[in-house]
Amino acid sequence: MKVHEYQAKDLLQAAGVAVPAGIVVTTPDEAAAAYDKLGGGLIVVKAQVHAGGRGKGIAIGPDADRDEALEIASGMKPRLDGMAKGVQLVRTKDEAKSAAASLLGKTLVTYQTGREGQMIRKVLVTVGHDISRELYLAVAVDRETQCPVLMASTEGGVEIETVASESPEKIHKEPIDIGLGLADFQARKISKALGLKGESVKKGEALFKAFVKFFIDSDASLAEINPLIVTDNGDVLALDAKLNFDDNAMFRHKAIADLLDENEEDPNELRAGKSGLSYVSLDGDIACLVNGAGLAMSTMDLIKYHGGEPANFLDVGGGAQKDQVLEAFRILLGTKNVKAVLVNIFGGIMKCDIIASALLAAYDEIDFNIPLVVRLEGTNVELGKKLLSESGRKIITADGLTDAAKKVVAAAKGAA
Ligand code: GDP
Ligand code: MG
Repeated sequence: MKVHEYQAKDLLQAAGVAVPAGIVVTTPDEAAAAYDKLGGGLIVVKAQVHAGGRGKGIAIGPDADRDEALEIASGMKPRLDGMAKGVQLVRTKDEAKSAAASLLGKTLVTYQTGREGQMIRKVLVTVGHDISRELYLAVAVDRETQCPVLMASTEGGVEIETVASESPEKIHKEPIDIGLGLADFQARKISKALGLKGESVKKGEALFKAFVKFFIDSDASLAEINPLIVTDNGDVLALDAKLNFDDNAMFRHKAIADLLDENEEDPNELRAGKSGLSYVSLDGDIACLVNGAGLAMSTMDLIKYHGGEPANFLDVGGGAQKDQVLEAFRILLGTKNVKAVLVNIFGGIMKCDIIASALLAAYDEIDFNIPLVVRLEGTNVELGKKLLSESGRKIITADGLTDAAKKVVAAAKGAA
């Protein structure tokens, strides 16, 4: 689960990480009022969407050329005058108001959002700082060492992927013992590596420890501060913050789970999650309904192997009850571009004949207007197949995974 920058900063501040003061608003007038409330001077107006690269991104209206916008946001084409950036520095109340107006209700396209971009519904109005140094700080889970790793670099403000590929020696890493958090000596190593001096040393080290503690305590899966800045008077502040949390741990962090902004989620994924289905949207035209994540992965592989493109990953879990199958079908059929559906079920604990009945019941409740291929295997498979073939519905049955994949690819091509 992801949260917005303003929410991430609230959480980090409560955990002891210094951040600039800010107010989140939804109208240009509120932005003007926030400008005054924050004391004026240099203020930054920032689009709040779940994507990075906002500083280089551009806010566009409904009729703009999205492909061109993406090229500009990715640095492949020059920005033209008058194009609104996702992060804007302002110095007057009127500028704050017009910056907010140039963002709210527009679509922000960044190199991370793709051409579709994301609708801007909120902007963060925040105190601007003169930046003496821009640094990078993050905690991620490292699969190799099987523990969180604190990463720090003097190359802040730019895409860290570029630093990692061009000059990996500029990223310092400290493995973290989750029982102990970041040890004092590790905090010192990082502050040395970042070249912190004077007052900034103590402030930086306290921030690193608080940041790591927050990561562990909140079951985060990724936490990134880019840039972490050192100001002219030695303060160390998180100017930007990005947090991802482990969905499976959110049951024990209600306050964080409540921060979910449903507008930022894929509507199908959101709907599937509410019915206990694991669903991921993909770009192809063959919808899949499978029980078990491993079987779902191999089903997608086989569809691709036989020349098709899966429209989604969908694991209905071990049970595959009628209500779940019904909701899964509704989601699949409501997805644009879907030309055929493949149901691939292994009846282990759940018997095939029960699954076949659930399929038929769901089929009847839904207007199935595209080919449906079903492959069943496991307990009572003969009985299940008999139910399907005797049902009189237009269902294509398949024997084995390969047969199923070939049939659904052919069906999708035929329907196309
Ligand atoms: P991102 O592009 O989505 O990662 O958004 P950021 O919050 O990182 O902002 C992008 C860039 O805007 C930063 O790297 C800074 O260079 C600049 N910026 C943001 N806030 C300030 C500020 O308070 N003062 C100055 N001088 N620049 C800022
Ligand atoms: Mg940033």
